[in-house]
Amino acid sequence: MNQVIYLDNAATTPVNEEVLKEMLPWYAEFYGNPSSHYSIGYETKEAIDKAREQVAKALNCQPNEVYFTSCGTESDNWAIKGSAFQLAPKGKKHLITSSIEHHAVLHSMKALEKQGFEVTYLPVDSKGVVSPADLQAAIRPDTALVSIMMANNEIGTIEPIAELGAICREKGVWFHTDAVQAAGTIPIDVQAMNIDMLSLSAHKFNGPKGCGVLYIRKGVLPLNHLDGGGQEHRRRAGTENIAGIVGLGKALEMAVSHLDEKAAHQKQLRDYVVNRILTNISDTRLNGDPENRLPGNANISFLALEGETILLDLDMHGICCSTGSACNSDSLDPSHVLLAIGLPHEIAHGTMRFSFGPQNTMKDAETLCDVLEKIIPQRRAMSPIWNTLK
Ligand SMILES: *Cc1c(COP(=O)(O)O)cnc(C)c1O
Repeated sequence: MNQVIYLDNAATTPVNEEVLKEMLPWYAEFYGNPSSHYSIGYETKEAIDKAREQVAKALNCQPNEVYFTSCGTESDNWAIKGSAFQLAPKGKKHLITSSIEHHAVLHSMKALEKQGFEVTYLPVDSKGVVSPADLQAAIRPDTALVSIMMANNEIGTIEPIAELGAICREKGVWFHTDAVQAAGTIPIDVQAMNIDMLSLSAHKFNGPKGCGVLYIRKGVLPLNHLDGGGQEHRRRAGTENIAGIVGLGKALEMAVSHLDEKAAHQKQLRDYVVNRILTNISDTRLNGDPENRLPGNANISFLALEGETILLDLDMHGICCSTGSACNSDSLDPSHVLLAIGLPHEIAHGTMRFSFGPQNTMKDAETLCDVLEKIIPQRRAMSPIWNTLK
């Protein structure tokens, strides 16, 4: 494929070259099992220890509070189902989440509802923000867990995690946050933010696919997720994905050490695109919080059009982006996130997410705007909805 412009970094990111270089020796050269007691096993164990320290430093926790998993989805499932099953025998069968979570969280909650658990879905305001007062009011004596994402994958809104965490801490309720979009993009401090469990995934910050983390604060004990050998402090069995873990540690370390630089670059491209589209194309709106949002996220609605049409037009021009969320791409229903912030169906349908990464250039942003300024009026001229409205 030649010269695609990749503007879907919220769906996944390319592996950074330096990260890849660190990963490669751990496949065929250093292949020992970290649980084996001989030199080539110790080498791999040391590589995992190093990555655990890199993650701990990035999150401000202890290395023994870092558990490697296979992806963000697994981390979310473990935190939610593990907490529910651990605390159910104590009579705690109520969970709280928001209505704009990723499906890894929402579908875990739905699965628990089928097993007799009760779930409260907190609403969000028109910017996609969860209200701390709503959380305060929703917590009950039988609440086992609160799970609220740090930043939304579709509209980029950043949630008041420190405040929500403080409420849970004060009430003695475990607090989990899905930080898959936030990690490596905005500052995270699990101490200052009162977080008990946190999910992240390497492929969202220029690391490899197939490797994630669940941070679990000391003293918090969700049920073990995979039973088997003694890996991951005896709580998540299975021979480790060493190259993936090495790549995750390196990618997170690199992202965090260049956090301000990376955010400034993403924000520059994002603001350029948002300003140009909202100025030059009529009947468009930016969704999510205009200020308090991920630096690389632009989520824009184009009145009277179908997102799928815009997606295909952009693909013809070699531009990759997404309608709302990659996870919804096989469904024609408007995204649950856009409906939760109160967008009517006819606006939600014509919504696109452009997400910028460190590898994107100003030229990418300019090309996107050039193409949109050409195709949107053309498509609208053919749209029966547009012609009825205008
Ligand atoms: C991508 C994503 C996930 C899923 O992570 P995987 O590693 O792809 O399983 C979960 N939550 C959010 C917010 C995401 O953006």
